[in-house]
Amino acid sequence: MPALSAVITGSTSGIGLGIAEAFAKENWNVMLNGFGDADEVEAERKRLEEIAGGDVRYNGADMTKPAEIRMLMKEAEDAFGQIDVLVNNAGIQHVASIEEFPEGKLDAIIAINLVSAFHTTKAVMAAMKSRGFGRIINVASAHGLVASPFKSAYVAAKHGIVGFTKTIALEGAEHGVTCNAICPGYVKTPLVENQIADTAKARGISEEDVVKKVMLEAQPTKEFVTVKQIGALAVFLCSENAAQITGAAHQIDGGWVAK
Ligand code: NAD
Repeated sequence: MPALSAVITGSTSGIGLGIAEAFAKENWNVMLNGFGDADEVEAERKRLEEIAGGDVRYNGADMTKPAEIRMLMKEAEDAFGQIDVLVNNAGIQHVASIEEFPEGKLDAIIAINLVSAFHTTKAVMAAMKSRGFGRIINVASAHGLVASPFKSAYVAAKHGIVGFTKTIALEGAEHGVTCNAICPGYVKTPLVENQIADTAKARGISEEDVVKKVMLEAQPTKEFVTVKQIGALAVFLCSENAAQITGAAHQIDGGWVAK
């Protein structure tokens, strides 16, 4: 596969970082994004750059701020010459019943998990179409296909991004631009670790039971998905062999959505 240039939102941690590592192993240029301790982010950037042999950069744009998103995309385009691959991955979660759901959290989840993908995609679409090649991957979730209680905003945002994936695919179809959603089940990242206590409270059960009876119970394999497995799927979706795969939602969830 030729060396490509990629932007991955929310790639300072978890799944985004796993995808960045998979891309670095392909020797691609990678623009990292996300929050985190400046020294730790710089250490990860350097580590990936050593793996990549390509150019690995970091821009800390806040995905709730369209002007910062536009600057992130411009910085990547200026640095790499072009953006071939866009991974819309940044996301947050909040677990609470609808009647107790804080409005600020609702707005933030919709902005980061859904609306930011519109702004990043808008920034790359014309250039990808004119070059006749582009790969857009939206990291959705099993919650883009089915619901769970107490995750109303997240389920709404993730169903939204699966729909957005289909429209991008249709608009890019005759121009070599594919768009797919990856729909992971539970992956043990900070996003999941942080919701164990709130889920225990919302359901009135212990934290141990949240892992066993809520998370792993959802997945027939009874195992967490790994970031390495998601990274490998993302690399495949960017390949020439995946040119006819577009507008699809790819479950990587240990069988969760098959039930
Ligand atoms: P994570 O918390 O480890 O990583 C989230 C990333 O998004 C971090 O880099 C964080 O800094 C970044 N981020 C958060 N708010 C941001 C903002 N305003 N602007 C820019 N960056 C921001 O979580 P993760 O589990 O790796 O989640 C990544 C994606 O995968 C999310 O979209 C999530 O919904 C999705 N997902 C996760 C799981 C899971 O089980 N972990 C399952 C399905 C889908």
